[in-house]
Amino acid sequence: MGFSASDETLLNRYVTNTDSNIYCVHGLPPEVVAVLFAYYSRSPATFRENLVKVVKEKDVDVRPEGTGTGLAGASEKARQFHEKWVVAYGHGSVAEHAVASIAIEDVSILATKAVEDNRLASYTEKSTRYQVYDRNRYYRPKNVTASRLGRLYEETGNHLMDAYSTLYPQVLEFVKGRNPKAAGVEERAYAAQCHAKACDTVRYLLPAATLTNLGMTANARSLEHAISKLLSSPLEEMRDIGLKMKAEVQKVIPTLVKYADASPYLMETDKALARSAAENVKAKAGGDRPVVLVDYDKRAEEKIAAALLYKHSQAPYETVLNEVEGMGEAKRRETIAAALEKIGRFDAPLRELEHAYYTFDVLVDYGAFRDIQRHRMCTQTNQALSTGYGYSTPPEIGEAGFKPEYEDCMARARDAHAQIAAEFPHEAQYIIPLAFRKRVLFTWNLRELNHFIKLRSTPHGHQSYRRIAQLAYDEIARVQPFLAKFIRVDKTP
Ligand SMILES: Cc1cc2nc3c(=O)[nH]c(=O)nc-3n(C[C@H](O)[C@H](O)[C@H](O)COP(=O)(O)OP(=O)(O)OC[C@H]3O[C@@H](n4cnc5c(N)ncnc54)[C@H](O)[C@@H]3O)c2cc1C
Repeated sequence: MGFSASDETLLNRYVTNTDSNIYCVHGLPPEVVAVLFAYYSRSPATFRENLVKVVKEKDVDVRPEGTGTGLAGASEKARQFHEKWVVAYGHGSVAEHAVASIAIEDVSILATKAVEDNRLASYTEKSTRYQVYDRNRYYRPKNVTASRLGRLYEETGNHLMDAYSTLYPQVLEFVKGRNPKAAGVEERAYAAQCHAKACDTVRYLLPAATLTNLGMTANARSLEHAISKLLSSPLEEMRDIGLKMKAEVQKVIPTLVKYADASPYLMETDKALARSAAENVKAKAGGDRPVVLVDYDKRAEEKIAAALLYKHSQAPYETVLNEVEGMGEAKRRETIAAALEKIGRFDAPLRELEHAYYTFDVLVDYGAFRDIQRHRMCTQTNQALSTGYGYSTPPEIGEAGFKPEYEDCMARARDAHAQIAAEFPHEAQYIIPLAFRKRVLFTWNLRELNHFIKLRSTPHGHQSYRRIAQLAYDEIARVQPFLAKFIRVDKTP
């Protein structure tokens, strides 16, 4: 359909072209975008045609120049549509076209992990490697600070932050002394390298309460879920973040997160399962292997080969799997090798690798958990942060002679945690430094493991998560050496 000159003027405000079949949409309220995409489902018209129609019907001349989108009428129509189709009938995919980017600032590291426990979203947070954290900036839970334990909380928090701030310049000097600048290396690059190493070393002292910043981009459907989880948390900070997120997101996506609320299902089930665990799980914190492969797909090779061939056949999967089982190891491996051996440095392996799964019980310091949690193409089950599994000590702390101060910090934090946890079991997590270890159960598919191990074993990564990536590789190599051969791993210490 041709557009009139006035339609073209209107469209040029909101789409990147008016004459190609591919175009981007910009400047429209997110819920209007969602409703216009929803029209693809029932209307033969294009997005642009429906946009002109909706604006003409609802918004003619409502937009004074330079005053936002001004699409009040279209937004109201979108609201009615979403109330009916998304909220009442559950046509959920529509909500995924309404996207918000949210700045979440001055929240604890513990809170960022709660927010990021939602995999269908994009996050970027303040680095513990490139930035030095401010000694006074850590979260103080009101119920703890108002209690008789408030003083202990503050003293422990201050002590950890002081140790972090005092040790940073000293560790930096140590790092520089041990690695003098090589000829030809630029001063700036050398300084950045030493700074990163010193930050990587002292980050173990930061309490989980340390305030940080996080950027999040997600669609309304994910946001509704994330907000509901936050509002269901036993921690006030998470509930507060959930409330603020809901209020701010509603300013740009008014309808689709309106009904996000605390979930009785989540809250009650959580309590019931905690009771059940207390009653039925007698074992305490134990085991010290950082990476244990607890379960894996014993038929991974057969399943991957079958999926690769299935895609290029017309036969049912079970029949292809039977044929693969009959083809013998050499031919099966030839098929897998053909799918993987040409892979380039930036290529992701074929999706068929996702048919093989591996479950790992990972015991890792909270600092490295922070990093590993960010890998979203997997299933993660987290235990609460505690002191039961002890803490990690980066080698540089011992080598530089700071072990006594470091161990004193950990002992004080452990003691404070024990006292606070007796009254405030959830809030006590805040005072635990990133050095303490926690357990996480990860079920990864082989494709994500290829990505995780390649990315997280590289020498410029943090030694703590590098070790997890390298050990995960070793576990796969132990049980399935042929498949491990295709994983790019850096085993340098
Ligand atoms: C050296 C280094 C420094 C880092 N520094 C920081 C930092 O300072 N701050 C910080 O916040 N993070 C930092 N990260 C984390 C990094 O940005 C990633 O978030 C993290 O490594 C997770 O990996 P991934 O994004 O590749 O995705 P995964 O979640 O592991 O997903 C696997 C793959 O699926 C695809 N994918 C998954 N989700 C999406 C999506 N929503 N959109 C598009 N594609 C998707 C991508 O191809 C991705 O590679 C750093 C990572 C490294 C290695």
